[in-house]
Amino acid sequence: MPFYKVISLPKPLAIPTVDGAKRWWHRLTPHRQDRVAMLAPLAAVLLFFAAIVAALGYLRLEEMDREQEAVQRDVEYTQQRLRLRLLERQEQITRIARELANREIDANDFKARAANLLDQYPEVQAMAWVDEKKRTRASQGMGANTIGPYYIPGDVLLKQDRDTGYALTRQLNQLLYVQPPLAKDEAPLLQMFIPLNNKGRFSGVLITEYSIDGLYRYGVPSEVSARYAISLQDSTGRLLAGTSIPGRKLVSRFLPWANPGNEYSMPVSPVGSGLVIRAQAYRASLGVIGSGLFWLVSTLSVMTAWMLIANWRHTRRRLQAQQALMSETNFRRAMENSMLTGMRAMDLQGRITYVNAAFCQMTGWTESDLVGRTAPFPYWPDSEREHVAARLEEELTGNATPGGIQVRVKRKDGSLFDARLYVSPLIDAMGTQTGWVTSMTDITEPNRVREQLTASHQRFTTVLEALDASISVAPLGSDELLFANKLYRQWFGVQAGGHLQLVAEAGMPNSPTNDDSDDSVDSFAGLPTTTLPDSDPESAEIFIEALGKWLEVRTRYLSWVDGRLAQMVIATDITTRRLAEEQAATQAERAQTASRLITMGEMASSVAHELNQPLTAINNYCNGMVSRIKDKQITEPDLLIALEKTAKQAQRAGQIIQRIRSFVKRSEPNRTPSEVSTMVAEAVELAEIELRRFNVRLNHYVAARIPQVMVDPILIEQVLVNLLRNAAESIDSALRQTSDRIVELRVLPKRIDDKPVVEFSVQDTGKGLAPEVMARLYEAFYSTKADGMGIGLSLCRSIVESHLGRMTAENIYNGDDVVGCRFSFWVPLNDTGTLTYSEPPAPQPNLG
Ligand code: ADP
Repeated sequence: MPFYKVISLPKPLAIPTVDGAKRWWHRLTPHRQDRVAMLAPLAAVLLFFAAIVAALGYLRLEEMDREQEAVQRDVEYTQQRLRLRLLERQEQITRIARELANREIDANDFKARAANLLDQYPEVQAMAWVDEKKRTRASQGMGANTIGPYYIPGDVLLKQDRDTGYALTRQLNQLLYVQPPLAKDEAPLLQMFIPLNNKGRFSGVLITEYSIDGLYRYGVPSEVSARYAISLQDSTGRLLAGTSIPGRKLVSRFLPWANPGNEYSMPVSPVGSGLVIRAQAYRASLGVIGSGLFWLVSTLSVMTAWMLIANWRHTRRRLQAQQALMSETNFRRAMENSMLTGMRAMDLQGRITYVNAAFCQMTGWTESDLVGRTAPFPYWPDSEREHVAARLEEELTGNATPGGIQVRVKRKDGSLFDARLYVSPLIDAMGTQTGWVTSMTDITEPNRVREQLTASHQRFTTVLEALDASISVAPLGSDELLFANKLYRQWFGVQAGGHLQLVAEAGMPNSPTNDDSDDSVDSFAGLPTTTLPDSDPESAEIFIEALGKWLEVRTRYLSWVDGRLAQMVIATDITTRRLAEEQAATQAERAQTASRLITMGEMASSVAHELNQPLTAINNYCNGMVSRIKDKQITEPDLLIALEKTAKQAQRAGQIIQRIRSFVKRSEPNRTPSEVSTMVAEAVELAEIELRRFNVRLNHYVAARIPQVMVDPILIEQVLVNLLRNAAESIDSALRQTSDRIVELRVLPKRIDDKPVVEFSVQDTGKGLAPEVMARLYEAFYSTKADGMGIGLSLCRSIVESHLGRMTAENIYNGDDVVGCRFSFWVPLNDTGTLTYSEPPAPQPNLG
């Protein structure tokens, strides 16, 4: 196998500075990067500008140096030329002077020679030969005016100050150049004084006058004067000839680079400092070009910098706009994603272009499953394709229902849900429609809730409609009917008349406040504004003649769904109950009488026995009286006594019969204020007949000062007789010894539930109540006795309860042995309730 060796190529060497710069760049925050990106070009522009200025300045200095040198050279050259010219003249004239001093030439010769010179050298303006006595011997000028008033032959050279040079020359005895003080309008001139020495003796002066203007014109080379402003000046700087550029200094002060001191001056050598030649470079054009370039560069730099800053600002604004756009986009995206409504966008051809997260979540299909699809879409349920396709067609043609359409949607897992779709056109920024946007909401839950609501409403209505009570609701103080159920409509129609009649007849206030009826201003003052006390419904039983029915009417106040205070009236048909009650009352009355008859029947032998005694006594008394009257053994007083005794016995028998009669006599229930002790005494009298038969002793105790009670005394007596009889029978069947055959009747005032009552209790020493008996004690026709009817106790209880009292029974124990039982009942004092019959309640186990 060939062996390949992996050779790692050396990495290209990174230039550390570039690397470092890169690292530094990446370490910067974006904000700083922006800064740097903005400042760097600006700095570059400034650097470029500085470089250009420096280069320009350098070049300028160079040039200025060069110019300076050139000026200097040219001035020196010109000075040389002037000097040469002056020296040549000086030499020629010195020769003439020598000849004059040596008397080799006379005045005419001199004039000729001078004229010749003047012709040849125009700068020489005048020549004069002045002798030792200051007298002009001869003179030659460029015309009369140049000789002027000074050198008139024969005149003494005293006029004016032209003799200053003469005096000085005579004194120094050497060649002198003098600038005479000038009269007004006199062209500047230069005088040359040459002393004339004849054998060591001063013999006069040869004066030559140069026109400085002529010197300038003929002495300065034209190429130099073309380049510079050449001027001749005196020692004080006064311009004598030529041109000078004034104000140069001012310009150069403000534009130091624009040819500052590009000038040069030097004295013209044979004359000395009295005549100075000065050259000033024109150079204007060069300055303009240089500063023009400078200004161009500065303008361009400023413009570039300005453009950079403007560009940077623009970028920054764009960046801000971009950021705002980004955050807006993010916000919208977040909103879209957190929205619970599904969104779907379609182009005009029905192709899905967009779905949001909620849409995907609802349908279970992903964005990639849906975007780009055309109908049929995967979330269409197979069974409803045609329906959905029709809806889509409507949607695309813009005919969709504005209220939204309801469709079924299939999830990816195949399950279905109800959805509501709302379609709206998708308009782009240019205002043209590019498609349709559909929002989708899952309405399965709302549908379910609505169905539930409908169902419960239906149930509610069904219940209300089927109710055998009429229900009506009307707002207070209005005859509008808010609600009425079927029975109401049957009874009273659809008007509120029935409602109002019921309220009026039931005597109920149709305002919830009856306490403050005086308050005529606001009868609802003090009412809670939100909820009304819906407890305390009042009820009344009324007879409606139009219907021929007894109705129980209840009202209650409620705030209606629109917030109005309304009164609801519930009327129940109680005609049957009323009839049954009436029947039952009659029957109960009959039952009570029957029961009393039965009691009497059962007591018949005892009653017979009881009656037997007075009857026997009467019989005995009568027989005794008969035999004693026959034997004539009776006195009238004795007979009277016997008759009285007989009558008493007969009265007693009559009393017994009267008591029995009044006991069993059928009478209407009649509650009167009754004396407890009377009722007890009468009951005891009746019961004692039976107690005696069973050989049972009765102890009774009635507490003193018991107020009268509002009862039917016959019925209470019936209860007491019943209880006493049962007690005696129980003692008898328990076969107690004579000493134990005791029944105790106690009547005591008591407080039960904080109400004053009178409690009657009958306690015996019998066999007590077995548990099974206890359970069925008050059941009608339940008896443990062979001849018992079993209706006694049940009647007793209903009598007590009709007096709003209660009855209890309990065993009496001695250790674990039952030694008897106690029946007790109470009736309330101060009772004002009506005496009505009520059905015996269901048997209650373990009473007491
Ligand atoms: P009856 O006396 O005709 O049987 P009651 O209704 O008066 O009908 O009594 C029902 C039953 O209650 C009696 O059969 C008896 O068993 C029982 N009972 C009533 N009073 C007593 C009592 N004082 N002691 C024991 N059992 C009693």
